[in-house]
Amino acid sequence: MTPDATTAPGVVISDSSDSAGPGTAGQAPQSAPGRAPRVEPLPPGTPPVAFLVDYDGTIAVTDVSDTVMAEHVSHADWERIAAIYDAGLMGSRRLMEWEIKLIRANEAELLATAAVQPHDPGFVPFARRATAAGIPVEVVSDGFGFFIGPALARLGLADLPIVTARTTFGGQVGKISWPNAHPDCRVCGTCKRQRVLDHQAAGRAVVFIGDGESDRYAAGYADVIFAKRALVPICLANGWPYERWTEFAEIHAWLNERLDAWRRDPAGAFPAPAEHPFFCGPEVWGAGVEDPPGAIEPPDLA
Ligand SMILES: [Mg+2]
Repeated sequence: MTPDATTAPGVVISDSSDSAGPGTAGQAPQSAPGRAPRVEPLPPGTPPVAFLVDYDGTIAVTDVSDTVMAEHVSHADWERIAAIYDAGLMGSRRLMEWEIKLIRANEAELLATAAVQPHDPGFVPFARRATAAGIPVEVVSDGFGFFIGPALARLGLADLPIVTARTTFGGQVGKISWPNAHPDCRVCGTCKRQRVLDHQAAGRAVVFIGDGESDRYAAGYADVIFAKRALVPICLANGWPYERWTEFAEIHAWLNERLDAWRRDPAGAFPAPAEHPFFCGPEVWGAGVEDPPGAIEPPDLA
């Protein structure tokens, strides 16, 4: 078991100046999350499962990162290059390092755009139900990340761990760093895969909930996948079993059913965490890679 995200093999910290993120219990949310909190080992007598949940398009109904870009960037190439990423042909870290340089708005303006984005009304009761049962619920986002803490605080979920990038602003100039990246892989800004592996190593099956391209490298290692929108064809193309979902109320009902089964018989209510063959990262791509195989080189991202 290697639940310590600061020391586990393969984990991750590219910005050693960061402290634990806003999900640490008792800490106020911040707009600039830091290093992901430690994954605790499974306590005896608790359900052996964890939920890792995407934010953009999943908890938030819209893709808030894309909405912020659409409202505050007028670069002619932005949508075309973002589409290359959406097709799985470009690394997210390189995309976001380019995007952040295009934004010309201050943090308050960006947060105001994010603050009016709707959230799935079923997420709060789902998260409360899971955490009351001792099941970790963690937000994993390979986006800008600065608006997630404030959004969860407004939802009354300030204590949920957030694993994402660290975006800060000086006036109208943004800066992004990667406290939760993989140390040997530069494709993703935030390594969702590592959090899946950390929770599995701690003795839990991982249920991953997502909607799109940024979920590809987590879903393929998860034990249960809830997929909608662009994540569905990704699952189909890779032969990954998945549950199609539309709203969190459905996943809440699934959780209730599984908890009832677990209380009747702890064996078999949740799948055992399973090892999956590596299909991303330095194990298959080599170290230091910035784009997935087959990448398209967008012109002039300087
Ligand atoms: Mg998403």
